[in-house]
Amino acid sequence: MNLLQEIDILRARIATLEEEVKKEKAIRRALFELLPEMVWAKDISGKFIDCNAELAKFHNHSREELINKTDFDLYDDDRANSYYVEELNIIKNNQSFKRKDFNDGDWAFQGKSPIVTEDGQVIGTVGFTRKITNEIRNIEKVEEQRNFQRMLMDLIPDPIYMKDKDGHYTKMNLSKAKLLGVNHPREAIGKTDRDFLGANKIIENRLRELEVQRSGNEIISETEKIIFENGQESWYSTSIVPVFDGNHHINGIVGISRDITTQQMFMQTLSRDRVLFERLMDNLPYFIYFKDENGYFTRINKALAIRLNLDSPDDVVGKTDSDFFSDDFSAESQQEEQQIFSKGIALIGKERKIDFPNGDFAWISMIKIPIPDDKGLFTSLVGMGIDITQRKMAEEKLILAKEKAEENERLKSAFLSNISHEVRTPMNGIIGFTNLLLAGELSREESEEYLKHIKDCGHSLLRLFEDIIDISLIESGQIVPHITAVDLNEIMDELLLTYKQVVHQLCPAIEIEYIGEPPAQKIFTDVFRLRQIMSNLLDNAVKFTQQGKITFGVKSLSPKSLCFWVKDTGIGISVNKQKEIFEGYGIFKGTEVGQKNTGLGLPISYKLAKLLGGKLTVESQKGIGSTFCFELPFQIVDKNDSFGNIGSYYYPKLQNKKLLIIEEDETNYIYFNSLLNNSPIEVRWVRNSFDATNIILNEKIDVLLLDNDLLTKNKAEVMHKIKTKFPHLSVIVRNDDCVEQQNCIEIQHAFIQTPVLKEELMSALEQVL
Ligand code: ADP
Repeated sequence: MNLLQEIDILRARIATLEEEVKKEKAIRRALFELLPEMVWAKDISGKFIDCNAELAKFHNHSREELINKTDFDLYDDDRANSYYVEELNIIKNNQSFKRKDFNDGDWAFQGKSPIVTEDGQVIGTVGFTRKITNEIRNIEKVEEQRNFQRMLMDLIPDPIYMKDKDGHYTKMNLSKAKLLGVNHPREAIGKTDRDFLGANKIIENRLRELEVQRSGNEIISETEKIIFENGQESWYSTSIVPVFDGNHHINGIVGISRDITTQQMFMQTLSRDRVLFERLMDNLPYFIYFKDENGYFTRINKALAIRLNLDSPDDVVGKTDSDFFSDDFSAESQQEEQQIFSKGIALIGKERKIDFPNGDFAWISMIKIPIPDDKGLFTSLVGMGIDITQRKMAEEKLILAKEKAEENERLKSAFLSNISHEVRTPMNGIIGFTNLLLAGELSREESEEYLKHIKDCGHSLLRLFEDIIDISLIESGQIVPHITAVDLNEIMDELLLTYKQVVHQLCPAIEIEYIGEPPAQKIFTDVFRLRQIMSNLLDNAVKFTQQGKITFGVKSLSPKSLCFWVKDTGIGISVNKQKEIFEGYGIFKGTEVGQKNTGLGLPISYKLAKLLGGKLTVESQKGIGSTFCFELPFQIVDKNDSFGNIGSYYYPKLQNKKLLIIEEDETNYIYFNSLLNNSPIEVRWVRNSFDATNIILNEKIDVLLLDNDLLTKNKAEVMHKIKTKFPHLSVIVRNDDCVEQQNCIEIQHAFIQTPVLKEELMSALEQVL
């Protein structure tokens, strides 16, 4: 090949190479410009041989201007020099580096590398710089936030944790770590509950977490109890929420538990206290209520609910006093409560009568105490009512008893002054006429007349004394009815006969008649007292009737009660007086002209009627007449009744009773036994007190009959001893000594006088049994 050919080949080759270099340059340029960083290439002397627009822009030059410049043209000498040395080292060592730099307030990421030819020659350097200030700041922020979060989590006393899908702890705070029994969260991360808890709790937790992961539903504030190994119990309020990944798939849970042990204990104590309070409220016998400042009940106890006719205490809410009580009562309460609220002073012990809705009433001692709210203002009150009805009633009774006692005292004085007058009048008559008779020189007729006056005065006195004795016996409770079988026809005929005589003598102008047939032939009653009552009624009828008719009789009011009535056409009794003629003694001493009255008859009859189990009533009209009725419950004497046939005595109290007669003398015993023959009481007899004690200890003896002589000197004491030792035993003593009699009565024994009569013995037995 000739030289020209070779030159052509070379030229062609150069052209190709140039073409390739061009291409390479173009690629490099395109690459440089494509990179977001500032990129450059330098020769070994540190001159820029290429750079991208980013770098040019940074240095405020065009790219062309930068070419052939060095760092000494762009930076201060120190910096330029440090770059120069750095690049020399790169060239020398053929090593590249990357690093983070902080210059001029900015962070940059830099990298420099040697440019190495194919034959291994280093001909320069390439480098890039990327500003990373923002990234660094962001990372710092994130880090800061993360630290803050961690700090916050650790500060929070509530255990907080995160778990992955399989139940491994991925995050937790210090509190949770402690709860699991480790010192630091990192000791628990990656582990599961299996590493820390008991089997039951593991299952319970896991099931709950799986449910949250499955359903995506949160569990909020669920109360759970945890028992630690040392036996300590704690309560937690736990919330569990699902955690989602970037694809909105659940990949775990976050849990937070709050220790509510103190709160729970407090609640338990509170609920115990509340139960205690409610039980106390409902079982106290007092009325307890709470009201707000507007007078509305907010709560009451059971005792009050019952009185207010409510089915349940809850029904009271929203009601006020006026829903239950009178307007006056409600108004008074309202006024009272307004004072309590405004002054904040309790009301204590006010007594008031309350009429309840069910018609009951009660005396209540009230306590009302204002209750302050959070701000110290009195906006509600608690009230308590104590039922003092019984005490009030007792007080009222006491007052009545006191008034009655005063009235009795007054009546007693009136009675005594009446009696002294009633005694003095006939006594004066007796003395006066006796003096006249003693003076002599009287005709026979005169003497007879004076003697008749003296006899009348004597009768009046006798009658008066009989009445006074009756009164004293009634008042001291010593009249004991002598119940016998009484033939009603017999007694009514006898009364008719007697009073026909009386009427004939005293006022022949009036008629007296016994009307009707008795409804029963024989009844059990006290014939003496029946006669006394009827005589008094008939006496009065005769006394207070000038003309017309007196009728009397007996009729039945009911199968069990009779009415012995006396009717007259006399002066009658005013309505006011009718109410009082039976009360007191002598207050209605006759004011009627020409009547000799003591005012004792009706009160005595009234008391006797009561004593026989009946009552005395009157119907009367002034000027027309009066009808008195002695109402008497009765028992007919049955023909087959043994008592009816045996001497007509009826002593129900003697049934099934046993009498022990202590009597040395057999004749005396036989006498007593004969008196008690046919009576229902069983009779035993011993001669001395020793035998008597044996019998009393072994048999059920109800009553003793003993002779005065059997008792030692201090009789009352002995009898007292008997009563103490054998409290069920009654004693009848035969005695004539009046002092002893009084002792007997005082210790509730009976006394009979010798010679003993059948009626007296029966009556003594009735008295003690
Ligand atoms: P005395 O008849 O001795 O006054 P009583 O107690 O028997 O006492 O009667 C009290 C009073 O009642 C009499 O004083 C009389 O005023 C009135 N009284 C009683 N019975 C009758 C009657 N049948 N008619 C009118 N007044 C009577």
